[in-house]
Amino acid sequence: MKDKLGIKRFGRVVRIPSPTGFDVGDINSYLILPKPGSRQLVLIDTGVGTDAAWKALDQGVQEFGFTIADISLLLLTHAHTDHFGQASKIQRASGCEIWGHEAIPESVGNFLPGPDRVDAEKKFFRRLGFTDAMYEKIFEYRHYISDIFEPCELDKALVDGDVIPIDDFELQTIHTPGHCAEEVVYWQPDSRQMFSGDHLLPDITPVCLLDIPDQPDGERVHALGQYYRSANKLLPYDLESVYPSHGDVFADHRALIAGYKLATERRLLKISRILERHGALTPLQVGQYLFPKVWETELYAVSSEVIGHLDMLVDEGYAMAHSDEGVLRFSLVAVPQPGAIPVLTVQ
Ligand SMILES: [Zn+2]
Repeated sequence: MKDKLGIKRFGRVVRIPSPTGFDVGDINSYLILPKPGSRQLVLIDTGVGTDAAWKALDQGVQEFGFTIADISLLLLTHAHTDHFGQASKIQRASGCEIWGHEAIPESVGNFLPGPDRVDAEKKFFRRLGFTDAMYEKIFEYRHYISDIFEPCELDKALVDGDVIPIDDFELQTIHTPGHCAEEVVYWQPDSRQMFSGDHLLPDITPVCLLDIPDQPDGERVHALGQYYRSANKLLPYDLESVYPSHGDVFADHRALIAGYKLATERRLLKISRILERHGALTPLQVGQYLFPKVWETELYAVSSEVIGHLDMLVDEGYAMAHSDEGVLRFSLVAVPQPGAIPVLTVQ
């Protein structure tokens, strides 16, 4: 279990952690207190849709003399359950608007896909070497989640560069896809503060989640490369404080990103060695060699990691993918040397 960080105020920013029930531990919501005379109370991310999370948020807001009904604007960093789970309930209590990136699906949190989508997903996972039983296991959590989370709808779809007017604390939207397609970070230029969502996390490497295309053999987003292009976009910013969705506030995002890059390089090398030793492998087989202990219990995270890295090896010319009776297999072209992948060398 992670250390409890607690409610804490940083100038006009208040961190309010709430329990998620997931392995990641608490999620931080951030409340931006109004300047004197203003009634604009802004919340960034909500926590999950449970009574425990509602209580934690309510208590945090009340500690600073407000109630959830006073919230005037809710900003989402992205549409994962721990970030928007209480959005509809907060909107009902306060009448606030909900804003988030335009890539957020129309009705956020409709977790149960229709039969066509299930069919396409199954075919997609078969291509990666999975059995249908493995597919069922990956998504069995959807039924659980659909019971405890409510869908919500955006009142405004943001795009990269959009400025959010909050009296004298305006935020700029920076689109940082990679962890997921719709992730944004919010940047306050005068005080040089950034709300980093799950894009930059101090204690864990953000997972770039596998994006399943509508067609099983359709074009896949190469999420790991996309993630680093987003991270590189943030390198020029001079940051005073970074407020992550999980873990404590930190300052040196450049050192953090450099650490992620080293870890990615090591993993690319490890996967190359696996391909070198065993020949052409399906993504599932790579996952079994790479994570022998957890591949079975963490199938979705493992496949996201493996596919992300394999795509990067292919994009950079170190591996090749070919289709063999409808199943994708990857084989090694050459083992990458340190410093060989351009997107990982930007400092
Ligand atoms: Zn997330």
